[in-house]
Amino acid sequence: MMLTRQTAGKVAKVTRAAAGVQARSLSHAVAGGPTLTLTEDQKSFQELARKFAKEEIAPKAAELDRTMEYPFELFKQAHELGLVNTHVSTDYGGMGLGCLDNCIIQEELAWGCTGVMTAIEANSLASMPLIVAGSDEQKKEYLGRLVNEPLQASYGVTEPGAGSDVAGISTTAVKKGDKYILNGQKMWITNGGHANWFFVLAKTDPEAGPKGMTGFIVDGDSPGITRGRKEINMGQRCSDTRGITFEDVEVPAANVLGSEGQGFRIAMQAFDHTRPPVAIGAVGLARRAMEEAIAYATERKTFGKPIATHQSVAFSIAEMAMNIEAARLLTYKSAMIMDEGKQRNTMFASMAKAFASEVANKVASDAVQVFGGNGFNTEYPVEKLMRDAKIYTIYEGTSQIQRLIVSRELFSDPSKLEP
Ligand SMILES: Cc1cc2nc3c(=O)[nH]c(=O)nc-3n(C[C@H](O)[C@H](O)[C@H](O)COP(=O)(O)OP(=O)(O)OC[C@H]3O[C@@H](n4cnc5c(N)ncnc54)[C@H](O)[C@@H]3O)c2cc1C
Repeated sequence: MMLTRQTAGKVAKVTRAAAGVQARSLSHAVAGGPTLTLTEDQKSFQELARKFAKEEIAPKAAELDRTMEYPFELFKQAHELGLVNTHVSTDYGGMGLGCLDNCIIQEELAWGCTGVMTAIEANSLASMPLIVAGSDEQKKEYLGRLVNEPLQASYGVTEPGAGSDVAGISTTAVKKGDKYILNGQKMWITNGGHANWFFVLAKTDPEAGPKGMTGFIVDGDSPGITRGRKEINMGQRCSDTRGITFEDVEVPAANVLGSEGQGFRIAMQAFDHTRPPVAIGAVGLARRAMEEAIAYATERKTFGKPIATHQSVAFSIAEMAMNIEAARLLTYKSAMIMDEGKQRNTMFASMAKAFASEVANKVASDAVQVFGGNGFNTEYPVEKLMRDAKIYTIYEGTSQIQRLIVSRELFSDPSKLEP
C-alpha cells in the first residue's frame, strides 16, 4: 500500500473526522465507556509505516549509527510511500493529514530508528512556520518543492549563544530595497548539510526584543551560506546536525513570512504542531526498548529460569509498559486538541514532549539493565536506544523549558487542566 496524493483528500477528511470522534470519546470517558480506536485510514498508515520501519529502517539502523551516514535512500523510499511531509495540505500537493495521523506514522518510524525519523520529521519542523504564516505563493513554491522531490529543509533558530533563550539570538536582517541582507550564525541545525531551503529567524529591529524578529525562507543555494561540518553527536548519529553561517546573504523581501516583527510568534507557534510528533518519537523509541527487553527476558536464563520470571525484571517491564501507555495517551491528547482547533494545545504539547522524553530515557536505561552486560555492548540494540533517547530531553525545547511553559500556561489559566 502507498499513501497517494490522489486519495489524500479523502484520507484527510476521514482522518480529521476520526480525530473529532476520538476527542469526544476521551471526554466521554469521565461518564464511562472510553474508547480510543483508530480509524481504518489511521490503521492503514500505521501498518504501512510499521512495515517500512520493520523491513527497511530497523535492519539498517545499527550500521547508520556506526557510519553516521545520512539516510538518503530511506528518506527517498519514505517519500515515495507518502510518509514524509504528511502535514502539507492537499492544496499544495501534500496529504493534508492531521497531527494525530502524523503521530501514528512517526511512532512507527521512530521504532525503526529515531535518527532516521528525525531526518524525516525535521522537514515538518522547517515547513511549519510556512504553514502557519506563509502566503499562497510561498507555500506553492517551498512546500511544493518538498512534496515533489525527496528534498530536505531546515528550521534555523538556535545559535551558538542562544538556544532556550530564543529572544537572545543575534542574527540580523537589514532591509535594502526589495531585499534583506542576512548576517549571523545558526547552530545545531538538523538537515543543515542537505537543506534545499531554511526557515531562518533574524532580528530586523534589534531594539524591539521578540517583537523585532522576522522569519524568512532562505534558499539553500544563496551565495553567502556556509554549511559547517556534520556534528558528531551522542545519538541519532545518522541525522545531520550542523552550524550554518549566513554572511551578507540576500533574501528577497517576498520571502518574509507574515510580516516584519512576527517571526518569534511564528517560530514558537510551529512547536504546537511539532512537539506532539517529537513526543511520539520518544514513545516509539521506548516501545522498541521495551519489546527488546521482553524478548531478551524471556530467552535469557539465570538461576535455572528465564529472567522474565524474576519479579524485579517483570516489574521493571510492567513499569515500562505503564509509562509508554501514559506517554502515548498524553501525546495523542495534545495532537487531538491541535486537530480539533478549538483551543491552543501549547500546554499539552509541552507536557507530552517532557513526559515522553523522560519516559524514553528511563525505559531505554532500564532495558539496558535487563540485558545486563550485553546491554552495554554494541552487538545488542539497546545501548543505541539509550544514546538516541537523550536528545528528546533537549531539542525542540529542553525538559526544563517545557516545564516553564506548562507552569506559565497553568498560572495564566488553571482551568486548562479541567477534564
Ligand atoms: C541534535 C540536535 C538537533 C537540533 N536541531 C535543531 C534544529 O533543527 N533547529 C534549531 O533551531 N535548533 C536545533 N537544536 C537546538 C536545540 O533546540 C537547543 O540545543 C535547545 O533548545 C537547548 O538550547 P541550548 O543548547 O542553547 O542550551 P541552553 O539554552 O544553553 O541550556 C542549557 C541548560 O540550561 C537549562 N536552562 C536554560 N534556560 C533555563 C530556564 N529559563 N529555566 C531552567 N533551565 C534553563 C536548559 O534546560 C539546559 O539544561 C538541536 C540541538 C541538537 C543537540
